Amino acid sequence: MRFVSFSSGSCGNCSLLLGLHSGIMIDAGVSIRRIKKELESLHLGYADISAILVTHDHGDHIRSLGSFCKRLAVPVWTTQVLNDALLRHPFTRDWIGPCKQNLTPGVWNPVTEDFDVQYFVVPHDATQCVGYAIRSGEELFVLMTDMGHTTPEALQWASLATTVVVESNYDMDMLLGGDYPQELKNRISHGIGHLSNDACAEAIAAFLHPGLKNLFLCHLSGNNNTPELAYASARAALMAAGVDPGTINLRVLKRGIASPLLVL
Ligand SMILES: [Zn+2]
Ligand SMILES: [Zn+2]
Repeated sequence: MRFVSFSSGSCGNCSLLLGLHSGIMIDAGVSIRRIKKELESLHLGYADISAILVTHDHGDHIRSLGSFCKRLAVPVWTTQVLNDALLRHPFTRDWIGPCKQNLTPGVWNPVTEDFDVQYFVVPHDATQCVGYAIRSGEELFVLMTDMGHTTPEALQWASLATTVVVESNYDMDMLLGGDYPQELKNRISHGIGHLSNDACAEAIAAFLHPGLKNLFLCHLSGNNNTPELAYASARAALMAAGVDPGTINLRVLKRGIASPLLVL
């Protein structure tokens, strides 16, 4: 299994998980032109996108979904609730119809030749927001982002995963001391917004298990966090749990910048 994050955060979210024969793009918050260039730089192309998964209906996750549907006509998998919302959303309503596929809850959905997918709902101020558990052979990739707080189900999935991508959105001191209006500070921090570095560290302590190989921090705020703070917080959580941080591939996924193609 290989993974590349093209961008992560409110500036746009889009990543690609590659198996031997197929690939799944997760969210489409980056322009299709940029994705084409990024794919070419990795000697990949549109043909490597076999399906698209959508986490929720916020612009930073679906801004370009209509373009991908129009250009690639690949299946777009998400929950029925989110597909219904995408049928009404101005970014997607003209193009989603022929592409949309509903995931069945509670079972492994065979989304591509290589990947089976289950979803779990996470708390966030969208129509609905879901995390994903994606299975291929012995590997289990779990992504949970835009999550006001963790849930037992999300932690349970992460505790089985070989790779976890988890939100580490903001540093509480930077958020409280920053110049966001109080209403926006509340929106971010009051349970249905985003996960702080501290809450992410607590989550790591809860889901950490010997089979975890890769831990990627995503959706960092540009105003209320730094990659260094998020990384240090997660590293401290690993060390506090008695894990040698050198044994887990800990990485921050950058805003607006592609990661290398990572072998998981
Ligand atoms: Zn987002
Ligand atoms: Zn969101």
